Amino acid sequence: MPITKRYKKIIIGNWKENPNTHEAAKHIVQGVKRAVVKLTKTVVVLCPPLIYLSDLGKGEQPFSRGAQDVSIFDSGSHTGEVSAQMLRDGGVEFCIVGHSERRKMGETDEMVSKKVGTLHQAGVTAVVCVGEEVRDPAGAYLDTLKNQIKNSLAGVEKKNTSLLVIAYEPVWAIGATVAMSPTDVHETGLFVKKTLADFFGHEYVAKVPVLYGGSVTFRNAGEIVRDGHVDGLLVGRESVNPQGFNEILRVVDSI
Ligand code: PEP
Repeated sequence: MPITKRYKKIIIGNWKENPNTHEAAKHIVQGVKRAVVKLTKTVVVLCPPLIYLSDLGKGEQPFSRGAQDVSIFDSGSHTGEVSAQMLRDGGVEFCIVGHSERRKMGETDEMVSKKVGTLHQAGVTAVVCVGEEVRDPAGAYLDTLKNQIKNSLAGVEKKNTSLLVIAYEPVWAIGATVAMSPTDVHETGLFVKKTLADFFGHEYVAKVPVLYGGSVTFRNAGEIVRDGHVDGLLVGRESVNPQGFNEILRVVDSI
């Protein structure tokens, strides 16, 4: 069943390479859990560094477990890699791929599409990040976005679109001080949905959630979701600050 049928909104916390100890990781989890149990309309996915997966707690939790990356291989001699099957076996339901910080380290659209394929085989939802580096007045960034979407999703079977989330993250807004305006989020979100519909057919992607990511805080989260008409948020830095993250959750759940 598509995620947005079960929940109204999705908020994904990308902890990046934080924090530095298990103790600090547990502190974040305990803090966030207090807010998550009060939510009625929002699904929350926590994506810590893999070493902290166990700190999310055993068994069923009020949030879903996520990962920040996956191997393009299923298994074998690939030092340092973690496969989609391993993630699934560890209780991971969502995995971010194509994050701009990984693309900067050499991840290509072709690698992203392989990662999406291996995640789908394992039954893990792929959170595919796309976004332009700069916004040029002539609108060439729209071509960049379209190509990124088509190439990153090449090979995705239509039946697996239910295991797909798109995170639109303009690179210039990640780790910045100001987020994109809700009007621009709305406009670009529509463009992303249209591109997906042209690629897969409207009936397959009507339910694919499109999230926004880039400098989200509790101050701008409400207007971005409400006026930007997105299905949720991918939150970076603020996801390791329980106070700020909980406020984002509260604000979005009340929309
Ligand atoms: C991210 O890491 O995907 C992100 C959006 O980061 P930040 O919220 O810190 O800009």
